[in-house]
Amino acid sequence: MTLSKSDTPLSVMPTGILLRSVVMTSVMSSPLLFRPCLALLRKLTESKSLLFDESRNPILKALLRHTVYAHFNAGINKEEVIKTVKELKRIGFKGVNLGYGREIVLGTNHGQQNTAAQGHNDLQMVEEWKQGTLQTLEMIGPGDFTAIKFTGAGPIAMEAMLKGQNMPEPISNAINEVCESAARQGVRIWIDAEQQAIQHTIDSWTIDLMRKYNRDRAPLVYNTIQGYLKGARDNTTRHIKLAAAEGWTLGVKLVRGAYIEHEDRSLIHDTKEDTDRSYNDIASALIERRLPQQPASEASENYPQVALFLASHNKDSVRNAMRIYRQRVESGQPTIILETGQLQGMADEVSYELLQADREWSAANSGAATTKPIPMAYKSLVWGTVAECMHFLHRRAIENRGAATRTERMAQALRQELRRRVFG
Ligand SMILES: Cc1cc2nc3c(=O)[nH]c(=O)nc-3n(C[C@H](O)[C@H](O)[C@H](O)COP(=O)(O)OP(=O)(O)OC[C@H]3O[C@@H](n4cnc5c(N)ncnc54)[C@H](O)[C@@H]3O)c2cc1C
Repeated sequence: MTLSKSDTPLSVMPTGILLRSVVMTSVMSSPLLFRPCLALLRKLTESKSLLFDESRNPILKALLRHTVYAHFNAGINKEEVIKTVKELKRIGFKGVNLGYGREIVLGTNHGQQNTAAQGHNDLQMVEEWKQGTLQTLEMIGPGDFTAIKFTGAGPIAMEAMLKGQNMPEPISNAINEVCESAARQGVRIWIDAEQQAIQHTIDSWTIDLMRKYNRDRAPLVYNTIQGYLKGARDNTTRHIKLAAAEGWTLGVKLVRGAYIEHEDRSLIHDTKEDTDRSYNDIASALIERRLPQQPASEASENYPQVALFLASHNKDSVRNAMRIYRQRVESGQPTIILETGQLQGMADEVSYELLQADREWSAANSGAATTKPIPMAYKSLVWGTVAECMHFLHRRAIENRGAATRTERMAQALRQELRRRVFG
């Protein structure tokens, strides 16, 4: 990714978003300011006190809506979401991944469900989950993604996942209706990875969906692989071998993993460096059409069609994958469909660099019919009421605390762009 002198990557960011991002990233990268904000977010997520209930405390609601919620989320209704998505596509993003914010987070005792689920009729929850997802589909268009969390379907899904059972009929009916609706609209679906207590079942349910729906080169359904797991490479190999043997297209969203604070730690790589190696190895293996931990020379003829969505804020991982992909496209070697994306409000300097590389390549190759050696860039957003998005927001806050150096780098890049606009 090379930058031209006249055009910085963030120069296409609208000024309103730039100003909000400068404030938010400055707070998130300052331990003094961020610690109390994180404590407040935790309280809001867990407390049953009226004072911390945003739906009954209008001042709190307004405060959240215009700060942390606006920074990370797409909107609370269709009108707001459509406006946000349109703006991102105008800026140059190829598309968005839109998810519905409602979810259940397991405590350390996996038998206990979050109290937010209590009091609801179980079947009604599945119906609301389905309707929420169908509504999400109405807000996006061809080429976009929608993210689905099985925990959002409530106790019926949760119980079956904890017991490792087949997909219960109400969930199966709902997800098939969603898949068929998405296929009609040209929208793709990725199934989010969650905690290990339920992830094995999520994998097996999602593999069944890929078997059924991924019959073309471009898949409809993507499963998520978490690179921080010690078993991630083996799990990737299992997915590749199954897809090759059974003749369906493998869709993979590759993430590092977001549940380190809630997960059995022994399942996760001991160090960040091991997680990085695992993530980068899986990404390059897929791009080079080989199994993880095998040399590139052992790329197999019998390799399935693969589409990889590289979901990461890590500049080195994105650049590394892009370099390998670019080399393969430019030298005419076989590769896979590669797309990449970052969450809204996170790692904007990475997202906007990709957009700039894309603009520069298009300007230099106008009319060329070759495959673009720049992976298509997406932004991921969650929509829903402030209350529905609280768990998501809390995780983003924890993630920013864990990546303080990167958040500071993003804050610096944003402040530099603001100075450039003000002082020329
Ligand atoms: C578009 C998108 C979709 C996502 N979907 C999901 C999803 O479905 N499921 C999910 O779980 N996550 C998901 N995530 C979050 C993701 O898993 C990461 O938490 C987040 O992106 C940070 O990782 P990173 O690749 O950006 O890089 P970095 O910030 O460089 O890596 C941070 C990550 O490294 C790992 N890590 C940190 N410290 C250690 C340590 N001491 N030892 C071992 N590993 C460590 C953790 O996974 C941590 O999140 C998604 C992220 C994006 C951008």
